[in-house]
Amino acid sequence: MQVAERCLICSADSLQRYRAMFAPFVGSRIWRRTSVAIRLMKCRQCDFMFSDSRFDPDEERRLYDGYRGHDYQALREKYEPWYTADFNAKLSTGTMEKRRAPLAKIFREHVPSEIKSVLDFGGDRGDLFDGLLPGAQTFVYDISGVEPAPGVKVLHTVDECTQVGFDLVGCSNVLEHVAYPRNLVSDLHRIASPSTLVFVEVPSENPMGMRTYAKRAVQEMWLLFRRPTTAASMLPFGFLRQVHEHINFFSMRALETLMQTCGFTVLASGLYPGEGCSFGPYKIAAGNVVWCLAKKRVGQNIVTAQSGGPSV
Ligand SMILES: [Zn+2]
Repeated sequence: MQVAERCLICSADSLQRYRAMFAPFVGSRIWRRTSVAIRLMKCRQCDFMFSDSRFDPDEERRLYDGYRGHDYQALREKYEPWYTADFNAKLSTGTMEKRRAPLAKIFREHVPSEIKSVLDFGGDRGDLFDGLLPGAQTFVYDISGVEPAPGVKVLHTVDECTQVGFDLVGCSNVLEHVAYPRNLVSDLHRIASPSTLVFVEVPSENPMGMRTYAKRAVQEMWLLFRRPTTAASMLPFGFLRQVHEHINFFSMRALETLMQTCGFTVLASGLYPGEGCSFGPYKIAAGNVVWCLAKKRVGQNIVTAQSGGPSV
């Protein structure tokens, strides 16, 4: 684990710090420890919020290998009794149509119809954008190694992606998970040509907002009945401020700042209700999704290789 001392988006060191913890499931899956104390950081300059503790590549692999597979689900249900096998299956398959509907509207309004090639960056099976842009070939780049959806072509490395020349590169619900968001956006910058449209969307979340606190309080009460040992272990750490798989929390300003500082010009941006996750216990804190459409600023070489502070 590494500790970030500056804003991971704008590099400012003007940060507010709050005591928090990793969710017991995350601690258990990565370190076999249920109580891992961390700090939540809030940048006064760009609004970005993030966990100060950043996963190293090995920790990321331990968290995401076999993502939402049997072992993942069983361990998660052990600490989060609402995360049943049925719920897990619904997350993987049941939300795709709901996720596509707002994208179809955004693309109709902002993306020209002559898109012939689309890259779904970090897109799992690559089925989110498939069919949204009639006649376009969809490619996917994803580290999980899962089988792609029918008709979707897999690219295995970022270098391979740079060879193709895409009309549109999309990256949906990925940036909230990654240790160093500027590194990912600099990969998008390498892949994009000056004419490529880059579409990025992330949940707009406030881990210290009242809706999140309400969700955590309900979960804690549920745990007190069903998993009292887990519930008790969280009390000294302040169960209200928990970081789960999302380690980055974006506002629209933070997302736009990220794109701009990585060499993009933002052409359009917006926000829509994140209906895709508004079921089960997540309904309480179902939030918005922020998106932006950008193009590379020409004539700039952006160096954004990023890492954290000291390893701990
Ligand atoms: Zn910042």
